[in-house]
Amino acid sequence: MYDVVIVGAGSAGCVLAGRLTEDPRIRVLVLEAGPTDRKMEIRIPAAFTKLFKTPYDWDYSTVAQDGLDRRELYWPRGRTLGGSSSINSQMYVRGRPADFDAWALPGWSWKEVRPLFDRMENDERGHLGLGGPVHVAHLRDTNPATHAFVQAAVEVGLEFVEDVNDPVREGVGYTPVTQRNGRRWSAADAYLHPATRRPNLTVLTGARARRVLFEGASAVGVEYLQNGAVHVARATSEVIVSGGAVNSPQLLMLSGIGPADHLRALGIEVVHDLPGVGRNLQDHIAVAVIVSSKQPVSLVAAESPSNLARFLLFRKGMLTSNVGEACALVRTRPGLPGPDLELIFAPVPFVDHGLVKQQRHGLTIGAVALQPGSRGTIALRSADPLDKPVISPNYVSDPEDLRVLSEGVKLARRIFQATALRAFAAEAIEPDLDLQTDADLQAFLRQQCETLYHPVGTCAMGTGREAVVDPELRVRGLQGLRVVDASVLPIITRGHTNAPTMMVAERAADLVRRSVREGAFLRPGTTGNVAPTSILGIGDA
Ligand SMILES: Cc1cc2nc3c(=O)[nH]c(=O)nc-3n(C[C@H](O)[C@H](O)[C@H](O)COP(=O)(O)OP(=O)(O)OC[C@H]3O[C@@H](n4cnc5c(N)ncnc54)[C@H](O)[C@@H]3O)c2cc1C
Repeated sequence: MYDVVIVGAGSAGCVLAGRLTEDPRIRVLVLEAGPTDRKMEIRIPAAFTKLFKTPYDWDYSTVAQDGLDRRELYWPRGRTLGGSSSINSQMYVRGRPADFDAWALPGWSWKEVRPLFDRMENDERGHLGLGGPVHVAHLRDTNPATHAFVQAAVEVGLEFVEDVNDPVREGVGYTPVTQRNGRRWSAADAYLHPATRRPNLTVLTGARARRVLFEGASAVGVEYLQNGAVHVARATSEVIVSGGAVNSPQLLMLSGIGPADHLRALGIEVVHDLPGVGRNLQDHIAVAVIVSSKQPVSLVAAESPSNLARFLLFRKGMLTSNVGEACALVRTRPGLPGPDLELIFAPVPFVDHGLVKQQRHGLTIGAVALQPGSRGTIALRSADPLDKPVISPNYVSDPEDLRVLSEGVKLARRIFQATALRAFAAEAIEPDLDLQTDADLQAFLRQQCETLYHPVGTCAMGTGREAVVDPELRVRGLQGLRVVDASVLPIITRGHTNAPTMMVAERAADLVRRSVREGAFLRPGTTGNVAPTSILGIGDA
C-alpha cells in the first residue's frame, strides 16, 4: 500500500518522486516500464542518438502524414529512468513569458511559474536560478564552427544574447545544457537518484502500467506487468500518470477514460467520457539545412580515439557536445507576441536522426516552427495495452507552419553565406540551391521535415469541454487521479519542452503536498498511518 503511485519515471515523474518524498509521511511508488539508466550512452552527451531504436526507446512512428508526402515519421521517446530527459539533446530552454500567459489558467502565468523555474535550477553560468537540483551549464568544448555561426547570425541582423532564456531579449546565443561536469544531467540525476535512500520511496523498473483501477469515480491503484506477471499497486491518496504525451493518453484510454465512442468501439468499458483525451496533440516540426564543411572540425570525428580519451580523462572534447550547440529565436513577421521560428546550429550533418553515421564533414541549421497551428491525435490501436498507439500529428495541416519553415530555410541559407562562416561553410547539401521559389521550398519541406521530439497537449490542462485535467492537474470528473507531464501543456512553448515539463511537475508536487497537509488525500476508511515501510527497490526487472 502506498499513498501515491506514479506511473513513469520520466522528466515529470522524477521531479514528483524527489519532491514528494521530501515529506517522510508520503509513501511513493514509481512504476517505470523501461530499464535502469546505468548505460554509458546516457552519460555521454553526444551519444544520445545511439539510444534510438534500443530498449531505452519506445521507438514510435506516426501514421502516414498527408501533408508530408505520406511519410511515417520516427518518434523516439525515452524508456528508462529519466524518461526522455535521459535520451534528449539537453537543451535547457524555459519558454517565453508569453507562452505561460497565453495558457490563461490560474497559477500558471509567467509571474507565477518563474519562481518554480528558479527553484529547480542550479545555473553554473549565473543567469538563472541557483541551488536547485537541475544543473544548467555552458558546453565545455564549443565547436569552432558554432562560434562562427553565432557571429554569422549577428552579421545577418540577429541580436546576441548572453542567455537564450532572457525573458525580454530575443536573439542568438549558445545553448544552455542540462549537464554537470561534461556529462548528461537527467531528471533522474537531479531528483530521483538522490532520493533513492529515502525509506518512503520505492522505484520499480521493468514495471509497465496496464490500467488505472477505480472504485466508482475514485482511482485506487494501478495494475501493472512485471516479469510477465500482473500485479496491483494500491494508492491511498493519488495515482499520478506521468507517462509522457504519447503514453499518458494511451493509459487513460486503456483505463476507460477518454472519448466514449472510441473506447466502446474497441470494447473498453467506459469509466468516464472525456473527449479531450488524446486530442490537441502539438509538436515542433523541423527541417535541416545542411552544408558541407571546409574544415574537418565537425562532430563526424566525435568518436575518434582522441575524443574518446579526452572525454574519459578530462570530460572534454566532442563527446561533451549536445549537438545543438547554439540557437536563435526569431520573429518571421512583425506584430507577433513572441518568436515563431527557432534556428538550431549543429556542427555535424544531422541526417535521419543521426541514425546513419556520416562520413563527410558538414554543418546543419535546423529550422523549427515554434508555434505550430497544426493539431493531431493519439488514439488506441486496440484494447491490448502492449499495442503501440496510433500517432497522428497532422503535421503542416496549418499552412502557416510551412510558411514559417520556409522563412527558416531562407534565413539559414543567409547565415551560411555570411562572412563569419566562410571559413567553415562550403556548398549546400540540402536543400539544393536550385530550390528557390516558395513552391520549391514547400515541396522540399514536405519531403524532409522531421519531429523535434516535443509532443505535448494530449491531456490538456484547462477548463473547457476538451480539457482533460483542471488547473490543479486533476483529471476532470474523477477523484484521486492526476496527469503530470508534457501532455498537460495546453499550448506548446516557444522553446524546448523538458524545462516546462519539470516546472509543471514542481508545481504538481506542491499541489499534492498541500492536499496531504490539508488531509484531503486520505480516503474514507484509510487510517492515515503513513509510517515508512517500503523496500528500496531500484533494479532491472
Ligand atoms: C530525442 C529527444 C530529444 C529531445 N531534446 C530535447 C532538448 O534538447 N531539450 C528539451 O527541453 N527537450 C527535449 N526533448 C523533449 C523532452 O525531453 C520531453 O519533452 C520531456 O522529457 C517529456 O517529459 P515527460 O515527463 O512528459 O515524459 P518522458 O520523460 O518521456 O517520461 C515518460 C516516462 O514514463 C514511462 N512510461 C510510459 N508509459 C508507461 C507505463 N505504461 N508504465 C510505466 N512507465 C511508463 C516511460 O518509459 C518514460 O520513462 C527531447 C526529446 C527526445 C525524445
